[in-house]
Amino acid sequence: MKYIYGPIKSRRLGLSLGLSLSLDKTCNLDCIYCQWGRTPITVSERKEYARVDEIISELKSWLQNNPYEAKELHFVTLSGMGEPTLNTSIEELIKQVRKVTSASIAVITNSTLLGDSLVRKSILGADLIVPSLDTVDPEIFKQIDRPCTDIKLNEIIDGLAALRKEFRGKIWLEVMLVSGVNDDIRHIEELSKSIQRINPDKIQLNSPVRSTAEKNVLPVEKAKLVKIKNILGDKAEII
Ligand code: SF4
Repeated sequence: MKYIYGPIKSRRLGLSLGLSLSLDKTCNLDCIYCQWGRTPITVSERKEYARVDEIISELKSWLQNNPYEAKELHFVTLSGMGEPTLNTSIEELIKQVRKVTSASIAVITNSTLLGDSLVRKSILGADLIVPSLDTVDPEIFKQIDRPCTDIKLNEIIDGLAALRKEFRGKIWLEVMLVSGVNDDIRHIEELSKSIQRINPDKIQLNSPVRSTAEKNVLPVEKAKLVKIKNILGDKAEII
């Protein structure tokens, strides 16, 4: 299988089958905590990095060959090695996935392209969007997510707020917290203001536990995670 990974059982999504929208790591960020390792070259161009018909044909054969798991599937999750909204066919892919399975559809995105109304429109057919926002400080953004130069943090935040108004499904905003990088309490208070404006259904706090792109990327200790969760309010949970 070139585009399918899993299924993976998680507390967050239940049984979820992943679809990658590119063959290799294709991303406009180079996050220090990325589980796929370094981004060889960050790309900002949107194009059809993988073809919808090829992905759907793989999905159909997986569903046929795994009837028991196919019936139990909670989510088909568009994510994979990189940023799925870089693929210009994501809207069509969501439509085609809907035709072949009754599982819900989730999109996991790094949020960088959500300032573009066409990108937002392309994912409105999903049931759940899990966007990331690690910081509201441009310097920390450069340090933790190492973006392509054309990405503007204020446009990401505006895009997330616009998505909330346009999307009828659930939004679970993910914040990846790295010890000593974006876990300062004053920074969390600033982040909290932007998150209130975005108004997601849930705020999911994560901290790196698997191998990461860079060495010495450390998780935030439990007591501090709880403090951060309390600052972010009732919608926040530690995952
Ligand atoms: S956005 Fe996701 S895929 Fe891209 S570098 Fe960051 S963690 Fe890795």
